[in-house]
Amino acid sequence: MEMDTKKPVPETQPWSEKFWEGTKEGKLLIQNCKDCKSVIFYPRKFCPECWSGNLDWKEASGKAKVMTFSTAYAAVEPKFMDELPYTVAYVDLEEGVRMMTRIVECKPEDVQFGMDVEVVFHEREGFFLPYFKPAKK
Ligand SMILES: [Zn+2]
Repeated sequence: MEMDTKKPVPETQPWSEKFWEGTKEGKLLIQNCKDCKSVIFYPRKFCPECWSGNLDWKEASGKAKVMTFSTAYAAVEPKFMDELPYTVAYVDLEEGVRMMTRIVECKPEDVQFGMDVEVVFHEREGFFLPYFKPAKK
């Protein structure tokens, strides 16, 4: 059996294209609903609170706090073996939305709950994935 070593890239949708365009310029874009003022992430066609399609984009500050995390040291899919160890986390953006991401530029043992982090983009096959690193003090 052949090992699948190709890493996945994001599947874009018409309503998430703007998000991925933003990442190419180093911008973390999130949506907000013009009707009920909800802040929305991940990109959607309709507001999850009021179902309005009247959505707009704004640039997030890129600052966040680690809500929870888990570090993989072994036993991951073969395509990710070369990246071990790595830390997958949920971070809460300053704007009030939660993102699943990776914590980078930090030893796994130094990642902490509530840690201040900031966005950094890592390129993979033309996509710029929003990861987070410890924030500068
Ligand atoms: Zn809404």
